[in-house]
Amino acid sequence: MYQIIDGKRISQQIKDELREQMAQRKAEGESRCLAVIQVGNDPASTVYVNNKKKACEYIGIDSLSYELPEETTEEELLALVEELNGRSDVNGILVQLPLPGHICEDKVLLAISPEKDVDGFHPMNVGNLSIGRPGYVSCTPAGVIQLLKRSGIQIEGKECVVLGRSNIVGKPMAMLLLRENGTVTVCHSRTKNLKEITRRADILVVAVGKPGFVDADYVKENAVVIDVGIHRNEAGKLCGDVDFDSVAPLASAVTPVPGGVGPMTIAMLMSNCVNGPG
Ligand code: NAP
Repeated sequence: MYQIIDGKRISQQIKDELREQMAQRKAEGESRCLAVIQVGNDPASTVYVNNKKKACEYIGIDSLSYELPEETTEEELLALVEELNGRSDVNGILVQLPLPGHICEDKVLLAISPEKDVDGFHPMNVGNLSIGRPGYVSCTPAGVIQLLKRSGIQIEGKECVVLGRSNIVGKPMAMLLLRENGTVTVCHSRTKNLKEITRRADILVVAVGKPGFVDADYVKENAVVIDVGIHRNEAGKLCGDVDFDSVAPLASAVTPVPGGVGPMTIAMLMSNCVNGPG
């Protein structure tokens, strides 16, 4: 019988720990403040931003909210980031992606001070991760590590396969598994004999961005399968990159969608805000 890795429960546990930590810090006169910037009113972004603000409130982190109109120029956004970089009362800056097409995302992400880059997207933080120095770590892959650790799944010495090599999920995921002493293989769209490689995995992390892509053919018996994907199917229901019904009976542990990796991303963002670069 497989174990369902409950991201909802684990993320709540992390948020409760952070809430306690913040209460203690506040008693000592310390505070934390996250600035959240949204440009335009993409409905999905609005939901994400509101969830982040709610999580801040729950944990006791102050939040500043900047809801800028769609026609905000790149210069105006960069000026705001610069102003927030200079404010000593702001610890974290988050620019909700995607940005409107006329604004260069890379330019904006590069402008955020690495010391306030709680999303862990700045090249300085990415570089620190790859050479084993402290820094902010991208929240979704950091959440996957917490899911594994808090479910009692050992990473050290395990054959780990990451399906996907994006800058925000696949690559940092591979680095983090390596940091935990896993033996890591990264697959992508040009990988040959994909199923042969994924079937070697003791731990398979799927971030391929294609609904239901991974079925039982990709999975070794008793593997741990982590599904990072989030999609809405034709019926409007949330689903992942893994075909859960096909894979779960074969796996030793598996994350559901929803309620797996998804809730961990915000929990790890909050952890970055409370603990700083770690
Ligand atoms: P992405 O940027 O689209 O990257 C997808 C990766 O999969 C790429 O590296 C691509 O290879 C690879 N790929 C695509 N088709 C493939 C195929 N047929 N065979 C092998 N590899 C293939 O996606 P992402 O941003 O990493 O996100 C992945 C998924 O996670 C999405 O569903 C996204 O919505 C979800 N997500 C969830 C959270 C969360 O909080 N839970 C956060 C972020 C993302 P190439 O590099 O060769 O193109």
